[in-house]
Amino acid sequence: MTTHTKIDHMHPKRERTLVLIKPDAIQRTLIGEVVQRYERLGLKLVGLKFVRPTKELVEKHYMNDPEWVSKTGAKFIAHATAHKLNIKFHDPVKMGEHILHRLSKYMTSGPVIAMVWQGLHAVAIVRKITGSTEPLSSDVGTIRGDFVLDSYEFSDAEDRSIRNLVHSSGSVDEARSEIDLWFSKDELIDYILIQEKVLYSAHMDGIFE
Ligand code: GDP
Ligand code: MG
Repeated sequence: MTTHTKIDHMHPKRERTLVLIKPDAIQRTLIGEVVQRYERLGLKLVGLKFVRPTKELVEKHYMNDPEWVSKTGAKFIAHATAHKLNIKFHDPVKMGEHILHRLSKYMTSGPVIAMVWQGLHAVAIVRKITGSTEPLSSDVGTIRGDFVLDSYEFSDAEDRSIRNLVHSSGSVDEARSEIDLWFSKDELIDYILIQEKVLYSAHMDGIFE
């Protein structure tokens, strides 16, 4: 018989983040590489599924933050102005909506893997390993820096979304709403990983026999 102890979901070691392995990463046969990067940090996989995302799901995912459209549009215009790139729409909302339309085409083009990773500083640490949005400027050692070679200049010229292999939540609040969107409660599994004793216990006692 299993005994159910009450789990403190607010404990810092239980911070959770959402990762999506995007269609290009799956076509590039990088599932194992991506999973390995997060797994070897010491994070625990608590949710995993293979999905065919709908346009509605992708739009909800990015529009979780109601200001995402205008913020992303404004960021795009500032970047394109500084780099003398072509700007399709000068209105941030229109440009943001266009970026969302490209993203929706990209994210529904093939299967996606959705995962929830749990552990101390999960959100920030997963973001660090994922790397910044544009592969051209992502740091070496990150997933976006090591496995792909796209740029805003090239993707914008082709009027398509930048292909950056993975998504990871940008903040703890974003993670919470994204996890609720992609997973139901019973799809997330609470379990003990033996290595947590080394990662989180105050003293590493009881190793010598
Ligand atoms: P992320 O959290 O690093 O994935 O980046 P954001 O949440 O800011 O943006 C989500 C997605 O929108 C990115 O993965 C890109 O595909 C796209 N995107 C964001 N900003 C820009 C931009 O300035 N230009 C273009 N072309 N796409 C962008
Ligand atoms: Mg984001």
